[in-house]
Amino acid sequence: MALVQIENVSKIYQTGDIEIAALSDINLSIEKSAFVSFVGPSGSGKTTMLNLIGCLDKPTQGKILVNGKQVDSFSRQKRAAFRGDVIGFIFQSFNLFPILTAYENIEYPLVMIKNEPADKRKEMILNVLDSVSMLDQKDKFPDQLSGGQKQRVAVARALVTQPKLVMADEPTANLDKKSSLNVIRLMRDMKDKFGTTFIFSTHDPRIMEEAEISYTLDDGKLT
Ligand code: ADP
Ligand code: MG
Repeated sequence: MALVQIENVSKIYQTGDIEIAALSDINLSIEKSAFVSFVGPSGSGKTTMLNLIGCLDKPTQGKILVNGKQVDSFSRQKRAAFRGDVIGFIFQSFNLFPILTAYENIEYPLVMIKNEPADKRKEMILNVLDSVSMLDQKDKFPDQLSGGQKQRVAVARALVTQPKLVMADEPTANLDKKSSLNVIRLMRDMKDKFGTTFIFSTHDPRIMEEAEISYTLDDGKLT
């Protein structure tokens, strides 16, 4: 069974009297351990697509299955619990806590979501820090790290809860070319190592080429 199954999904935003069709009649499926990108210009629906798959929002129409669960009918609360169990997130602007070290940033979801005991927690954090080659930087604060290093920490934070799926909305938008490629290749290595499915968006053709499967969005439609 596919990890993500999307059937006849549309998303319409309503602001006052104006309706905006952000996604129109999307059908696709994504297998386990896939490395998938959504590509398209600004406003084409990438963020909307990732928000729906990441269970941050609901479709206006259609069916979405993630990890065998029909998430489009979930309540807000159920979506939040499901995200904590199944999905990790990487953000364009890293979203690290400035007052926490790299180690503590990675520890945060384990404390908040998983409530793992301290010794188990330490083992998980050191393991994932090692995987992203940031073990020697673990006591640094985000301010003391480069953009590429911050995103490596963010990748580790997304992975530490051992999610089935990691969502990354334009994870390289704030990075230079070299760091962008490094972060995407790191994500791909993590997919190979842990079998995690990665879904990311980009408008950068060079980054898009690193994906195994690319979906192009144009004005809310798959092309
Ligand atoms: P992308 O990430 O590719 O730039 P988005 O998914 O953010 O595209 O946006 C798709 C379309 O939906 C755009 O026309 C955008 O203006 C609109 N849109 C996105 N979010 C909202 C919202 N919360 N309310 C109203 N319109 C929105
Ligand atoms: Mg976007």
